[in-house]
Amino acid sequence: MGSHIKRRIGDGLKGSASRPVWRYSISLAVALISFAVLMSCGRSGKRPVACDDGKYIFRFVVMGTEAELTIATTDRDEAQRAADAARQALDRVNGLMSDYNPASDIGRLNRSEPGKALAIDRATFDVLKNSVSFTARTDNAFDITYTPLRRLWRKCAERGSLPDEAELAAARALIGTDKLLLDETACTAALAAAGMEIDLGGIAKGYGVDLAADAMRRCGIKGGIVNVGGNMRLIGANPSGAGWRVGVLDPERPDEQGHFLTTIEARDAAVSTSGNYHRFFEIGGRRYSHIIDPRTGRPADNVPSATVIAPDGMTADALSTAISVAGAKKGLELVESFDGVEALIIEKSEGTMKEYRSSGFAKFEAAEKKTLAHQADGGNENMSGGKR
Ligand code: AMP
Ligand code: MG
Repeated sequence: MGSHIKRRIGDGLKGSASRPVWRYSISLAVALISFAVLMSCGRSGKRPVACDDGKYIFRFVVMGTEAELTIATTDRDEAQRAADAARQALDRVNGLMSDYNPASDIGRLNRSEPGKALAIDRATFDVLKNSVSFTARTDNAFDITYTPLRRLWRKCAERGSLPDEAELAAARALIGTDKLLLDETACTAALAAAGMEIDLGGIAKGYGVDLAADAMRRCGIKGGIVNVGGNMRLIGANPSGAGWRVGVLDPERPDEQGHFLTTIEARDAAVSTSGNYHRFFEIGGRRYSHIIDPRTGRPADNVPSATVIAPDGMTADALSTAISVAGAKKGLELVESFDGVEALIIEKSEGTMKEYRSSGFAKFEAAEKKTLAHQADGGNENMSGGKR
């Protein structure tokens, strides 16, 4: 069963004053049609949309993107229980960590008085604490406090001109995990300066797929995939006994069905891809990435695609975002410093795209790399790519 999840419906940074209105209308129409199709099949994930070869498939919208669960079982009730549990786990993470929701932990923190400690859920605390440790390990490439820069670039997209040095300096002064105050014993968080904000968009989906996969396992599921906007957690093996197959989208031809840069074959692992080909904003007709380098204050545009294989979804998600910022050379060093982590990085230099693989990445590449179209082994077809 081919699964072609169309990714993320909207993003805060997408669009700009330089974008003609008709392009918004088309995007909106596409979004509405995709949403309607999604809702019509499987009542927004409450029932499976397909049963194929010992696998039940569920699709729904969560965390501002589209999710797909693949559950290897022949027992429909068991599949249903596992899907409900996975969905609940994802809804919970979204309810705690979405910065769009003013009542979530992150929503409350972003609106809190400077320096005032706020009691938060232990799950939110763990993601904040892990985020801070990724900042240290990635030489500040990954930083959930980068958000004043998101605000600045959004303003620039609206007015149609680039930021000046003073604006960049003012935004950068508000950034730094040293100003995110965490108290493990009390389970509280505080933002030290007015104007600071947190955005878990680069890590929370990975954390969510971990919790959803745990929930499915607790329901007795031995094989399956949780895919939230291209962040995947693979459970066990597929019903044929082989690893699950994940196609990595080609950033130069991301919308070409059945065409992949390579195909990963893995079991009990997480796979995440960060890319800027579906989510970007425009200023003066030039596209800029939604991933921003907190150190320079500028969009990270040199890595159109970074795919990370890791033991858990949170690590895969955070590192794929970090590599988009760090670039291929530093990105590979970073990956080699983590146990059990591999990456495929596409970097643009002087107009050409170059592929970089970490030392163990090839071990995960299926023999038939470029296409999944003629699989006869019942392998699952999934895609990892830059989210919409
Ligand atoms: P991903 O698709 O996982 O690479 O996450 C991209 C998202 O991460 C963006 O849309 C922002 O919400 C957030 N983000 C952007 N730049 C950074 C950064 N330097 N560090 C952490 N999160 C970021
Ligand atoms: Mg990420």
